[in-house]
Amino acid sequence: MNTLFDALFAPLSRRDDPLLLLAEGGSLTGQAFLTLVNRYAQALRAVGVMPGDRIAVQVAKTPEALAVYGAAVGLGAVFLPLNTAYTPEEVDYFLGNATPRLMLCDVTRANALAPVAARHGVALLTLNADGSGSLTEAASRCDGDFTPVDRGPEDLAAILYTSGTTGRSKGAMLTHRNLFSNAEVLVDLWRFTRADVLLHALPIFHTHGLFVASNVSLLSGGRMIFLPGFEAGQVIRHLPQATALMGVPTFFTRLLDDPRFTRDLVAHMRLFVSGSAPLLAETHDSFAARTGHRILERYGMTETNMNTSNPHDGERRAGTVGFPLPGVELRVMAEGAEVGPEVVGMIEVRGPNVFKGYWQMPEKTAEELRPDGWFITGDLGKRDADGYVHIVGRAKDLVITGGYNVYPKEVELVLDEVPGVLESAVIGLPHPDFGEAVFAVIVLNTGAVITVDAVLAAVRDRLARFKQPKAAVILADLPRNTMGKVQKNLLRETYKGWFS
Ligand code: AMP
Repeated sequence: MNTLFDALFAPLSRRDDPLLLLAEGGSLTGQAFLTLVNRYAQALRAVGVMPGDRIAVQVAKTPEALAVYGAAVGLGAVFLPLNTAYTPEEVDYFLGNATPRLMLCDVTRANALAPVAARHGVALLTLNADGSGSLTEAASRCDGDFTPVDRGPEDLAAILYTSGTTGRSKGAMLTHRNLFSNAEVLVDLWRFTRADVLLHALPIFHTHGLFVASNVSLLSGGRMIFLPGFEAGQVIRHLPQATALMGVPTFFTRLLDDPRFTRDLVAHMRLFVSGSAPLLAETHDSFAARTGHRILERYGMTETNMNTSNPHDGERRAGTVGFPLPGVELRVMAEGAEVGPEVVGMIEVRGPNVFKGYWQMPEKTAEELRPDGWFITGDLGKRDADGYVHIVGRAKDLVITGGYNVYPKEVELVLDEVPGVLESAVIGLPHPDFGEAVFAVIVLNTGAVITVDAVLAAVRDRLARFKQPKAAVILADLPRNTMGKVQKNLLRETYKGWFS
């Protein structure tokens, strides 16, 4: 038995129909993909990968890269995907921390990474953006006759490093049970079936694209349109063949910016899912107005997979992340006790989705994972009277000004309602009197003409004085990472001297 392999990959032996539809028009059947998985597993075993070994993978998104994930699962190894943007210096940290047996990289980076891999005694093989490379060559000499290694629910399947905006990133240890239980729940909750064609434009080095999208699609027996990344024109071209799209909020705003994205284009679609960063209520509403579809927003994180989701059938409420998933417990805590509706506190979750701890960081694990299984997410939020969960922001983004707590989201929501303002990011900056002062970074709607002073004046009556931004700037865009998250740490760094 191999919990994940048996559920996600083994059933492909019965599928002679297309599993992956590719950007250029080709496709790969389930059987062809499984053969690739098996050959990679044999090739990886031949270079010494044993059960429990980590395989670090920093490669372009290709069917071959997804097949390496399957191979790692089948081998009982631990899949360790790395963001393709990481520099060799950053990779050095991951190799030192995770001590993988092997690393895969693109041939164009092999020279830069070779000394890093050598320093940690890690073998380096290549897997390129066109699927070629030394691993593929080795795999092509294998016959595909591979029997997966036994793995139980508590065995590790993957380590995903957190994005680490403060301090070093931590390797979240995810078990077969974590990944399988979450995929099973989501297939059911979001009504995925073998008739579904998921438009997959997310990266596969992150939980959203790798687990939410790929695992859900594989488990449901459906198909994926497997694109190398998000490019609005390409997505629009493929939407007519899709039934579902999973994306980060920027996918939806970019689609809305494109006149080719029309109601007719998506009239046949079954589901749009958003997550990884907050979807503005305004985006939700504009999307509904343009397409007639209500985006289903859900909330999760690297350490926990998915925690909550808006309902498939009930009301999908803009600006909320819905209800805890079946089997997942969620509580809001303040001052050591659980609080009731409408009170903001720290969100904690418990369930089969919650990771096993941080790789080789027992103290960090103990700080965030309670002995009775509750994980302290670091997200502040509340439940409303109807039970919908609202995320207010990361606890580390909380602004404490003159001893008062200011939840950035509360101020951002008010700023965003000012006519002319598209969106905003509120941060705390060092201030000689207040400790921290509330500072707003504002993005205007295209063509809007409004000054910083006018925006600040417009919120004056709506926010207590200590919550009002003491200063603000207008930018063309908010800095975002590949998952669409606003990089508040960059903003804090840029403007740190503002009040000094
Ligand atoms: P990551 O581990 O990179 O997936 O980041 C997880 C974090 O993203 C969570 O702890 C939240 O702060 C944020 N996040 C994910 N989904 C949502 C959402 N739907 N709304 C607001 N924040 C979200």
